[in-house]
Amino acid sequence: MRCPKCGSRDDKVIDSRQSRDGSSIRRRRQCLKCKYRYTTYEEIERSDLRVIKTNRTHEPFDRRKLAASIAKAFEKRSTSLLTLEDMVDEIVHELETGGREVPSSVIGARVLEKLRGIDEVAYLRYASVYQRFQDVDQFVDAIHTLGRRIKSNALQRELFPPEATKENANVARRSREGAIKNHGRV
Ligand SMILES: [Zn+2]
Repeated sequence: MRCPKCGSRDDKVIDSRQSRDGSSIRRRRQCLKCKYRYTTYEEIERSDLRVIKTNRTHEPFDRRKLAASIAKAFEKRSTSLLTLEDMVDEIVHELETGGREVPSSVIGARVLEKLRGIDEVAYLRYASVYQRFQDVDQFVDAIHTLGRRIKSNALQRELFPPEATKENANVARRSREGAIKNHGRV
């Protein structure tokens, strides 16, 4: 900030306070040259980014929705909220510099690009839920590509936890038994 009194660009923040609703931050600053104190306000710039969905309808970009979808991919993974927030910041910034309208597929691709470098399990989860692979082969390819780079056992455990697998097996067995029983009655 340029000092309003002497024009120097060197200042320090001596106090930061959030507004009651959290939408702005008020900072007290002091010029390092002339010691003059002044106040600045920092506010969220309202994004006018619009998302073009696959069905061609538009909707306003929703940062919280994006953050929630990424957070879901990181469920039970050891990634800090700070990393998540940084990631969302970066993606939003990149999207905003790209123009006013962005296809949802581009957003998905951006997220995947980031996830790939941070957490491969989260990457696969996001890809399977939000990106929707074109076909099964593509999904298998992605798993194989990752599998070559990380221990496949670890990946297997993450994607198919032992409890879940056992539970699924039980459900499958029960429904098989049910089917046999029903069949016997017919
Ligand atoms: Zn000054």
